[in-house]
Amino acid sequence: MERLQKVMAHAGVASRRACEELIRAGRVRVNGEPVTELGRRVDPQRDRIQVNGREIRRESKRYFLFYKPKGVITSVTDPRGRRVVTDFFREVDERVYPVGRLDYETEGLLLLTNDGELANRLAHPRHEVDKVYQARVADHPGEESLERLRKGIRLEDGWTAPAKVRVLESAGKDCWLEIVIHEGRNRQVRRMLDAIGHPVRRLIRTRIDFLTLAGLKPGRHRSLKQGEVERLR
Ligand code: URA
Repeated sequence: MERLQKVMAHAGVASRRACEELIRAGRVRVNGEPVTELGRRVDPQRDRIQVNGREIRRESKRYFLFYKPKGVITSVTDPRGRRVVTDFFREVDERVYPVGRLDYETEGLLLLTNDGELANRLAHPRHEVDKVYQARVADHPGEESLERLRKGIRLEDGWTAPAKVRVLESAGKDCWLEIVIHEGRNRQVRRMLDAIGHPVRRLIRTRIDFLTLAGLKPGRHRSLKQGEVERLR
C-alpha cells in the first residue's frame, strides 16, 4: 500500500505537491469514493483512482532478474549518491524494488518487483528458498573447515543452518567454493567464511531457487517469464 499522492504522481498526474492539492480540493476519488485527507494509502495495482473524473493508469506487476555488478547499493536511493540498483531500471515505468539484498561488493542475481505480496513471501524465512553463491576465498580451506560450514557455524547472531558446500576449483593461492544457504542474514556468507579463517575475495550469487544468471551480463536485467512467476508463487 502506498500514499495516494505518491501513486498519482508516479502515474504522471502532476508533482506530489500538486497531487496533494488535488486531493485537498476534493478532485480525487478512490474506488468511487471522494478522498480529501492526505494520509490515505492505496494499492496501486488494484484500487481505481480517478482525478477530475478520469481514471489514472493502474500499475501492472513487473518481475525482473538483475545481474547486480559490484559497487552498487541494493536500495532505491542512497543519501551518499552512490549507484543504486534502480538506476539500472530507469526505463521501467513501474517502481520496482529489490527482494532481499546483496552487499555493495557482492555481485550476482537479484530479483526486483513491485509485487509486494510475492516479495514478502519470498523474504520470509519459512519460504526456505535456496540461494547459491560462488565465493573466491583466501587459501584452500581443508575438509574440516568445510565440515564446520556444513554442520552450521556459530556467528554473532546465532548458529547458521547447515549449508551445502563444495570446492569448485583452485585459483592459484585462492580457491572457489560453492555455498548453498537459505537464510538471508546480513553479510552471512562473508561472515561464515571469515569464521573459518578464509575471508572472501569475491562473491557472486549465481542462483535463487530455480532462477540463474544464465543469459545475463553484469548491469543487465530481463523480465521473468509468466511460467517463472507462477513457479515462484
Ligand atoms: N552473503 C553475503 O555475505 N553477502 C551478500 O551479499 C549475500 C550473502
